[in-house]
Amino acid sequence: MCGIVGYIGQKKAHPILINGLSNLEYRGYDSAGISILENNDIKLIKTKGRVKTLFEKTENENLNGTIGIAHTRWATHGKPSDENSHPHLDNSKTFAVVHNGIIENYSELRNMLIEKGYKFLSQTDTEVIPNLIHFYYSKGNDFIHSVSLAIKDLKGSFALSILCKDEANKIIVTRKDSPLVIGKGKDEFFISSDTPAYLDKTKEFYFLDDLDMAVIQQDDIKFYNSNLKNIKKDIKLIDWSADSAQKNGYEDFMLKEIYEQPNSIKATISSTLSKDKVQIEGLELSKEYLKNINKIFIVACGTAMHAGLATKKIFESICKIQTEVDLASEFRYRDPLIDEKTLCLYISQSGETADTIAALKLAKEKNCKTIAISNVIGSSITREADFSIYTHAGPEIAVASTKAYTAQVTLLSILAIYFAETLEINNPDIKILKKDILDLPNKVDEVLQVNDDIKELSKKIYKEKDVFFIGRGIDYPASLEGSLKLKEISYIHSDAYASGELKHGPIALIEDGISVVSIITDEKLIEKSISNIQEVITRGAKTIIVTNQNLPANNFYKIVNIPSTNPYISPILSVIPLQLLAYYISKEKGLDVDKPRNLAKSVTVE
Ligand code: GLU
Repeated sequence: MCGIVGYIGQKKAHPILINGLSNLEYRGYDSAGISILENNDIKLIKTKGRVKTLFEKTENENLNGTIGIAHTRWATHGKPSDENSHPHLDNSKTFAVVHNGIIENYSELRNMLIEKGYKFLSQTDTEVIPNLIHFYYSKGNDFIHSVSLAIKDLKGSFALSILCKDEANKIIVTRKDSPLVIGKGKDEFFISSDTPAYLDKTKEFYFLDDLDMAVIQQDDIKFYNSNLKNIKKDIKLIDWSADSAQKNGYEDFMLKEIYEQPNSIKATISSTLSKDKVQIEGLELSKEYLKNINKIFIVACGTAMHAGLATKKIFESICKIQTEVDLASEFRYRDPLIDEKTLCLYISQSGETADTIAALKLAKEKNCKTIAISNVIGSSITREADFSIYTHAGPEIAVASTKAYTAQVTLLSILAIYFAETLEINNPDIKILKKDILDLPNKVDEVLQVNDDIKELSKKIYKEKDVFFIGRGIDYPASLEGSLKLKEISYIHSDAYASGELKHGPIALIEDGISVVSIITDEKLIEKSISNIQEVITRGAKTIIVTNQNLPANNFYKIVNIPSTNPYISPILSVIPLQLLAYYISKEKGLDVDKPRNLAKSVTVE
């Protein structure tokens, strides 16, 4: 889940690599390191801490080389320390490697190499890689053949950038189940885990498939498959602006991304829905096919899974297709009942979520049709799925997802309309839903006006130890998402419950002064919801109500009013005050909102 970068060209690599790492720091950040090739020697500097610490350690080091690789680490094997930071060298210091992923058979490989006399300086799984490459190199293979033989021995996931001091005019990169892209400049190339690292340098990127290799020289790039056969790759144009990956005056990426939601939703809508038509590029499903499917499975992790839960009802109500939502990490190991009549949707903002990709591969093995829903063109999941459709949220940098979630709920709602129209379902609700979706960007603008109110509220509750979120029907998935946001970035314990479930257990946790956030957006459920709120008030809770309804006067601690909308899509609006609440509570606590502890943006390990 770390960030990998590399540079080869005519300019000094050091500032370009540091800049790329800073842009990628959201992916992982417990340590950082850099290797530069200079005078046929590999210079290596690495440190526990953030990219800033690496910069301070390297700025006076006279690193003048024009070829280099660098890394920010999200430790999986071995605690964050200077020794465990990447790059890792082999014993002879011929090769330098940065690695993203996990080598599952590292201990076996390590023992084999120790037997052959290799010594290990770190506790990482990664350190076997440079030594394994060296092992093959010492048998007379050249750089590329040694890398190719070494990766055949690796089990697990990896994106690798590799330097060799004996072939000091190139970088070799390869990947399996971990992302890696190569940006093309004029007589220079930029390697990174994700395009935002170098959007300020180029918009042209190459994407590698599993086990492909690229040999990159200043003015040339060659691609090979796993049998070292020469292959061709097309360039993909990424039309995100470099600005979109900067803070642009906001204190944090998360706040900027919360405020970008009117635009990200608008862009997602305008790519698919006009006044009277839904057209989703790249998606072609016939009426015949949709008529015969036995169910839809929406599979994802974290916030993306909540987007699935928020839209299950639309698929069931307007398409009349049974819809299940599952966690990718569970789905893939529980032998789900799926077959060629099951349509599986996979949601991943980055398109690199390891569990979600694995769950998609499983569905393909069972002959299901698969649709990937991603924010990143060319990402791994989109290359695996039968069809790929895109949210147009622009790069999301903050670890806590905000604009990707609302764009996902928007796109899934439009997808449900697409299915219903393809099935020629005649339901007046569809027309109303379309109109309400088109109105969303204005409504989101309106919700954002609660900002100051929420800021004040957060000052009163930021010291809480527990905060509960409750909701019924469509408000329950929104509660789950609000609760996840709060725990992710404020470290306050928080849980979400379907309001009706409270008295089956969780109400035992309610005591004097505890905060309970309740969402009420469905007119039909007002009375039931109010009764549940009364039950917690009776037991001493402070209740914060997010609602678009006229509620009877009551002894609530705080009401946050949001605009009314179609109940199917209300999670898009009701989640926004909750995103802001999590944000301001985290700020009050003086925490790093964009980079919460223990978390990383793209979860590329299982
Ligand atoms: N597994 C490697 C390590 O722990 C790489 C982790 C990462 O992807 O940052 O060092």
